Amino acid sequence: MARVNGKVALVTGAASGLGRADVLALAREGARVVVTDLNEDAGQALAKDIDGVFVRHDVRSEDDWHKAVGTALERFGKLDILVNNAGIVVPADIETATLEQYRLLNAIHAEGTFLGCQAAIRAMKANPGATGSIINISSLSAIRGFPGVITYAAAKGAILALTTTLAAHIREKGYGMRCNAILPGMINTPLLAAVGADTLPGLGQPTDVANTVLFLASDESRHMSGAHIVLDNASSIIGGGA
Ligand code: NDP
Repeated sequence: MARVNGKVALVTGAASGLGRADVLALAREGARVVVTDLNEDAGQALAKDIDGVFVRHDVRSEDDWHKAVGTALERFGKLDILVNNAGIVVPADIETATLEQYRLLNAIHAEGTFLGCQAAIRAMKANPGATGSIINISSLSAIRGFPGVITYAAAKGAILALTTTLAAHIREKGYGMRCNAILPGMINTPLLAAVGADTLPGLGQPTDVANTVLFLASDESRHMSGAHIVLDNASSIIGGGA
């Protein structure tokens, strides 16, 4: 039995790396998927492969969120799963980072995830029992010190607080939705290559994150909300890089 059969998912930053792996896993397990990204060529090709739909979507834009979630509702009739995945990294420590970088990283990660959660809650309230699963991609850097990516780590920390608080809101309101965060350690994607860390030993693979996304998206995790799931093969415990 497919694990997310009949569900409708929207994945941001879906044309590359982790988002692409999430899309492939969700589609394989029976979901209809809205693929959103800034990268139109790769996004459209992926949507075609899975018989899904592509929307050009900058997660910083509230109008783009209306368009993306509106597409899920128009094409597939509902929204069950949102993966807030889009992101970039800027290598800089506290002494070299600029306020402009800090604002950019917050705009994409913190504000983008905030807007996504708002749009998803609105749509999911229309589901019978107000059900749905929001999955926020944070990072190990939100809870462990990686001095070289301070603006990234701070923005990823905001996603954890948002996740906890939204889960509490959902529970207090008696809605049937859930909201959880995944904190991956280093996973081999183009983003990691951008900071020169893609040759480290022991890196995770995008499918490692996609399998966790699949669990959180499916009803197997029905009693899990507000969780912060560290996914790093114990590298932070032993003090390793990846
Ligand atoms: P990739 O660079 O492979 O993919 C990120 C995607 O997000 C790209 O397609 C990118 O488009 C898109 N994107 C960037 N900015 C925006 C925006 N404003 N609106 C919409 N889409 C955007 O990175 P990963 O797959 O590695 O990263 C995915 C998520 O996982 C990110 O949030 C990242 O922080 C997080 N993460 C990654 C880890 C890793 O080790 N790889 C570890 C922990 C967390 P374009 O290429 O056009 O910029």
